[in-house]
Amino acid sequence: MYTVRVSVIPHHQWQLDQFSIIQVHAYHPVSLEPIALPQAHLHQLHRYHDIGELLLESHPAAARSLFQLCYFTSRVWCNDLHTIEYQSCVGECLRVLQLLSDAKVWLWDAYNTMSVILDPVNDTLRNCMLSLGMISIVTQELPQARALLERVALLDELDEGPHALVTLETLLHVATVYRFEGKYNLALETVQMVVDTLVNIRWEPDWCELLCWTALGTLYVNIGDTTLGYIFLEKAFLWRLEHNGPSSNQTWGVFTKWFWLVMYANYWTHEKAKFISWSKQIPRDMEDWPGKNCVVCYDPILGSAYSKVDDPQYTYLYCKKCVDMEGNTNCFVACPSIRDCAKQND
Ligand SMILES: [Zn+2]
Repeated sequence: MYTVRVSVIPHHQWQLDQFSIIQVHAYHPVSLEPIALPQAHLHQLHRYHDIGELLLESHPAAARSLFQLCYFTSRVWCNDLHTIEYQSCVGECLRVLQLLSDAKVWLWDAYNTMSVILDPVNDTLRNCMLSLGMISIVTQELPQARALLERVALLDELDEGPHALVTLETLLHVATVYRFEGKYNLALETVQMVVDTLVNIRWEPDWCELLCWTALGTLYVNIGDTTLGYIFLEKAFLWRLEHNGPSSNQTWGVFTKWFWLVMYANYWTHEKAKFISWSKQIPRDMEDWPGKNCVVCYDPILGSAYSKVDDPQYTYLYCKKCVDMEGNTNCFVACPSIRDCAKQND
């Protein structure tokens, strides 16, 4: 067994197979801002980068430290295409950590540099555009999100083919933009196209179907078809619970949508037993609305989710802080948090 250790936080240790200890040096123990390593370490950067990629989903803060270390070192000693790749990776970690303003600064800077020097577009620029597109969805910069994601989808289609998993996944992100824009028919057509392709190619069916279940479930809820929405979201949640497990944020991200639908569509009396048994598995340190941000401040929503309209949609939910700040008396609780509801029914 080997250990990856970020030495500025001595009690944080990440157990990983195959890797030896990495010391991430910092300017200052409080800022956690890594400094550039001496030139002798240059040959190690690719390895640190690979470890960072492995850590990105499970430990984004550790991955960020590694990528920043790579970035500063590379910038001092090489300042080449790898430097921009590391910069882009730092931006992606910040996005995963929901530090969206910082993520935008890192990603736009990398994007602007790359779009000048890169022709044709490489994977790093493509991933950078994808991250920026996904941030733009959260920050409601929808024309920008659409431009970026449609371009990524087109590039995927040209490079990987129209049936490639990566192309289909990007198309689902494009459908999400359409949903936020209120173009529900266009969104449904796009998702349906992905579903049809998946049915025809029969490739990695489980995982592919899962992506569509979540997209379809949310869309059907938004167009008022709660029966179909319920079927898809429940399937998606059970799949996540089985394959990603109860410690994954993605599992509870889908569960949150399922729970919101149950409350919104008055399925509570039928589904209470399911809720009680599932909600017991929620980890203590999980956010109230995993993966869901307030439409005004873009922060993760804490506690209940609020709405300003009678017919609230999962796409547009507010946090209490923003409701209070606007002094809006018409706002009401669209849905209590899973945690509050679980406490009441314990
Ligand atoms: Zn807010």
